[in-house]
Amino acid sequence: MVDNSQTPNQKNKPTPGQLIIVSGPSGAGKSTVLRKLLSECELPLQLSVSVTTRAPRTGEVEGRDYYFVSDEQFQTMRSEGQFLECMEVFGRNWYGTPVERVDEALRSGKWVILEIDVQGALSVMKQREGILSFFVHPGTRKELERRLRNRGTEEESAIQRRLEVADEELTALSYYDYEIVNRDVDIAVADICKYLKKNAEEMTHA
Ligand code: 5GP
Repeated sequence: MVDNSQTPNQKNKPTPGQLIIVSGPSGAGKSTVLRKLLSECELPLQLSVSVTTRAPRTGEVEGRDYYFVSDEQFQTMRSEGQFLECMEVFGRNWYGTPVERVDEALRSGKWVILEIDVQGALSVMKQREGILSFFVHPGTRKELERRLRNRGTEEESAIQRRLEVADEELTALSYYDYEIVNRDVDIAVADICKYLKKNAEEMTHA
């Protein structure tokens, strides 16, 4: 379900920052790539922290990985228009991008990364202009399945659901500016950083 909670006068508001979207199947290694990108790419990057109704995984930290809320809290935030986009992902849990935090960071010149699913990404692409978008995937479906199983955080039914969603998501590849095949984390990070810097240069010479 799409939630375009913006008012028209907020649409395409120019800001000094840059909005970046990173999507890709669950298990593609997006989080690892992004963590490394943030520490190694010399740009004012900031990861948007989403709100979710999913339970925290072992090691996940409130406010760093997600803001973990109840279904009730999430639906209140949604009805108050607090999300740039929000989606029910894997038919179970809700995830949303807090619009005010994102816009505040963009106003202060940050390059804000949204790590969101394809449906959420398409919703944001409709609302905002000048986005840079990346689709990260592990190359083959077999490799994706291997990574999901190795992660050991999901039950079999959840793994199957994630693989089905991955098949659907791959068909949306053409909506993204850049395809990143994550066979080697260092190369994936270097590629994303290179594309971002190229855009930064083009912006300063525009
Ligand atoms: P996970 O449960 O593995 O952390 O995330 C599951 C999926 O939800 C991933 O594809 C992730 O990119 C997506 N996701 C995380 N936060 C958001 C969000 O705020 N909005 C949307 N639409 N998807 C999100």
